[in-house]
Amino acid sequence: MIKGPDHLTGEDRPHLYMDDFDSQLKKRKMADKKYQMDKKIGELKYTDLYPHDRNGKEVSEAMLKQLTEVLLDFVNETNDRKCKVLDFHHPEDMKKLLDLSIPQDGLPLQTLIDDCARTLKYQVRTGHPHFFNQLSCGLDLVSMAGEWLTATANTNMFTYEIAPVFILMESVVLSKMREIIGWKGGDSILAPGGSVSNLYAFLAARHHMFPNYKEKGQSSIGAQLVMFTSDQCHYSVKSCAAICGLGTDNCVEVPSDEHGRMIVSELERLVLERKSKGQIPFFVNCTSGTTVLGAFDPINQIADVCQKHKMWLHIDAAWGGGLLLSKKHRHPRFSGVERADSVTWNPHKLMGTLLQCSTIHFKIDGLLLSCNSMSADYLFMTDKLYDIKYDTGDKVLQCGRHNDIFKLWLQFRAKGLNGFEAHMDHLMEMAEYLVERIKADKDKFYLILEPECVNVSFWYIPKRLRNQPHNQQRINELAKICPIIKSKMMEQGTMMVGYQPDDRRPNFFRSIFSSAAVQKDDVDFLLAELDRLGQDL
Ligand SMILES: *Cc1c(COP(=O)(O)O)cnc(C)c1O
Repeated sequence: MIKGPDHLTGEDRPHLYMDDFDSQLKKRKMADKKYQMDKKIGELKYTDLYPHDRNGKEVSEAMLKQLTEVLLDFVNETNDRKCKVLDFHHPEDMKKLLDLSIPQDGLPLQTLIDDCARTLKYQVRTGHPHFFNQLSCGLDLVSMAGEWLTATANTNMFTYEIAPVFILMESVVLSKMREIIGWKGGDSILAPGGSVSNLYAFLAARHHMFPNYKEKGQSSIGAQLVMFTSDQCHYSVKSCAAICGLGTDNCVEVPSDEHGRMIVSELERLVLERKSKGQIPFFVNCTSGTTVLGAFDPINQIADVCQKHKMWLHIDAAWGGGLLLSKKHRHPRFSGVERADSVTWNPHKLMGTLLQCSTIHFKIDGLLLSCNSMSADYLFMTDKLYDIKYDTGDKVLQCGRHNDIFKLWLQFRAKGLNGFEAHMDHLMEMAEYLVERIKADKDKFYLILEPECVNVSFWYIPKRLRNQPHNQQRINELAKICPIIKSKMMEQGTMMVGYQPDDRRPNFFRSIFSSAAVQKDDVDFLLAELDRLGQDL
C-alpha cells in the first residue's frame, strides 16, 4: 500500500518552501491531508461500484467526489506560488515512497484514493507559474474540464456512429483553423502529436506526387526521393526519412543562419546538387518556431524554391502555430503560410490545450483519405444510415483514435478568437519582458539572441565570472554552470527551466513561455532564483 501521509517524516514534507511559518500552515494541503472517505465506503471494493453493482450509485458517487477533492487540491496547489513546483526524489528513493506493485487481490477504495493523492503529490506541477521547462505546459482549466468530459464519454473517434457530436466539432474547429491559415477548403485531422502530424504530411506529399506508391511501393518511383529541412528542425522530420524508406542520409539538413533560420540559397544549392545526381527532391520542411531557439524559416522564399523545383512545402508550426492567432505577431513570421501544402500546428503547445492535441492541415481535400484509406469492411461500410463523409477513421494511420477535440473546442468557446489572441500576446509580452530584464542586468545575465518566439536563450553569470571578456573560455564556464543550477532548482523544487547545448554553443538556459499562469512577477522570480542558486558557483 502507498504509505499514508501519517508515515511521513518532517523531511518527507518539503512540499512548501517559503520559510514563513504562517503560510506553511496554510499551505499544508496534499502533503498532509488525509482523503478519508466514510469508513464503511472506504473498505468497499471495485465490485461495489457501477457497473459491477447495479445499485452502486451511492458508492460510485462517494468515490468520485472524493477523487474530485484530490484533483481540486492539485489544481489549487498548482496555482499557489507558495507551493513547490515539484518534490524531487531520485528514482530509487521514489520507489520507496510509493507502492507500485500489482496485488493478487484488489485493494479497497480508500487505498485507491490514497494512491491517487500520492501520485499527484509527487507529480511535477507543469501548470505552476514557475514552470518554464517545456513547450507544452500550463493548466488551462477549461481545457481540463473538457478532458474530464472526454474521459467520461470515453468514445472512439473513428465513426460518426459512435461520436456524433465530437466528429462535428472536429469538422468545425479544423475548418476554422484552416481558415486562419488562409485556405478555403482543404482537409485536416488530429494526430497523436506533432511528430505524427509531420509523418502525415510526408505520406500525403509522397502519395500526391507518386500515387502508385501506395500499391506498388518504392519501385514505382524509380529514383531516390530526397527531403530537405533546416539543421534546426525538430528531429521528427528526420525520423520520417528513416520510417518511410528514404534513409536519414536523404533527409538533407540545410544550414541555418545565426538566428536559426534556414538559409534559402543553401536550400536551392542542395536541391540542385541532389538533382544532378539523378535524385528526386520532393519535400521541404519549413519550421515556424524551432524547438530550441524559436526561429522562423522564411516561408515566402522557401515557397519560391518549392514552386520552381516542384516540391511539396510543409510547414512545421507545431510550436509557433499559436502565433497565427495574433495580428500583432503573425507577420512577418507567418507571411506566406497560405502557400504551404500542409501545416502541422499543435494546440497543446502555445495554445495551452491539455496534452495531447495536435493538428495537421492540408490545402488539398481528399488526400488523407486516398493516401491512408484501407476501407475496412467492418467499420467503414458504405451503406450506413448517415452521410459517411463524417466517418474520419479511414483517413488515419491508427484504427481507434482518442478524442482530442472536445477540450480544444471548449477552449475556443471560452476564449473566442479574441481570447486566444490575447493569450498569444501575453506570452510574447512575457518573453519580451524577460529579454528586457536580462538586458538591464548585464552583469548577471547574457542574452544569446533576440528571440522571435517565446523561447529566451541566455546564460547566468556567477560572481566570479562577472566583468570579464565574453570569450570562449567564459562561455565554457557558463555552460558548466547550467546543469548545476538545474539540479539545485530540482532538488529544492522551486522552479524548472530547461538548458541544452546546440550546434553553435555549449549548454545554455532556454526559458519557455507557454503557460497562461506566468506573470511579470514570475519572470522576476525566475531571475532572482537563478541568482540565488547560482551566484556562488
Ligand atoms: C514539439 C515539436 C514537434 C513534436 O511535437 P510532439 O507533439 O511532441 O510530437 C515537432 N516540431 C516542432 C517544431 C516542435 O517544437
